[in-house]
Amino acid sequence: MDTTTSLDGLVCVDCAATHDPAAAPRRCPDCGGVLRASYDAAAADVTRESLAAARFDGLARFSDLLPFPADALVTLDEGTTPLIPAPEFAEELGVGAVYVKDEGANPTGTTADRGTALAATAARDHGAEKVALPTTGDAGQSAAAYAARAGLESEAFVPTRSTFVAKAMTNVHGGDMSVVEGRYPDAVDAFESAMADDDNADWHSLAPFDTPYRHEGAKTLLFEVVEQLDWEVPDAVVHPTGHGLGVVGSHLAAEQLQEVGLVDDAPALHVAQPEDCAPVVAADDEGADETAEWERPDTLIGALEVPDPAGGALALDAVRDTGGWAVGASDDDALEAAVQLNAEGIEASATGGVGAAAARELADGGHLGSDDTVVLVNPVAGAKENDVLRSHLMRKGV
Ligand SMILES: [Zn+2]
Repeated sequence: MDTTTSLDGLVCVDCAATHDPAAAPRRCPDCGGVLRASYDAAAADVTRESLAAARFDGLARFSDLLPFPADALVTLDEGTTPLIPAPEFAEELGVGAVYVKDEGANPTGTTADRGTALAATAARDHGAEKVALPTTGDAGQSAAAYAARAGLESEAFVPTRSTFVAKAMTNVHGGDMSVVEGRYPDAVDAFESAMADDDNADWHSLAPFDTPYRHEGAKTLLFEVVEQLDWEVPDAVVHPTGHGLGVVGSHLAAEQLQEVGLVDDAPALHVAQPEDCAPVVAADDEGADETAEWERPDTLIGALEVPDPAGGALALDAVRDTGGWAVGASDDDALEAAVQLNAEGIEASATGGVGAAAARELADGGHLGSDDTVVLVNPVAGAKENDVLRSHLMRKGV
């Protein structure tokens, strides 16, 4: 595998063993724990000036902080997404400024593209024939696109309720799809039995936290945010959360930015979940170190209906290490908040609305200051969730 000189190896978050990336395509070979990349900060040749000189190079501009060099990356020019001011929403919250990091501007309309780019790179370098993953929908579309780019086959295991656009575009990119009757955990079961089949030994997992690289790619969101704010670290970043890739990525990013001396502190990282599928919020409330499976998930926000998050423990670490909160939002509040951002011109999705509604809860609870700069992550394009937003308006009689 072609890796960067700053990459030291992959470290298991559970047993702390270090592994050679070439020998560890999935989880820790010793204990099954999640792997994260570890870096030699001194070997990373990156400054504010070097980044400014490479403005249009997508994720490649951060390659000294990533596992794979720029010329090895499977890329569709993901990243460099807009950071859009939302002054009306800021005024309502009573904070200094609100910005929406619009991840809908990524190549397949989702923040998943950042991690899929790195994970598809690794899959190709491991000699995979096919990449596979369980997904609520959007990451399946992303995987199909990046697999196509890498010359690999792909297969997404999705629940029937996935959006039409995600299912359609997965096929349009040439990806295979198994539509599994039931909900997301049924898709996970189907994925795991396919991966365990001896006939599929050349398949490579792109499941969240199963590959070491999707959370690595997710780091680049916070890299961009601090740069877009002229290297001022925001006070708060609110991540709508399913498996936890976004918030865990930002946690890793904040650590790494400090290690290489680009910034001096970390933002408070907040988790936002639909209150009818909120395992991270429940675990945080109970003071638990790990999430427990949510028994009866029932939310209109399908992208976040993940009852058993693969990164639950790591998401809790991110919240607690940075002084953040884990907050639930009702579907109605989330849809209303999304519509409110749209009324300000920002094409937020229902999924993004969960973060906006959580920010309102944080403000009401006194957890945001009057001078605070708050970043709301919009993980997926509003246009990909047009039906649920439009139905919300129709229910209100608009
Ligand atoms: Zn381990």
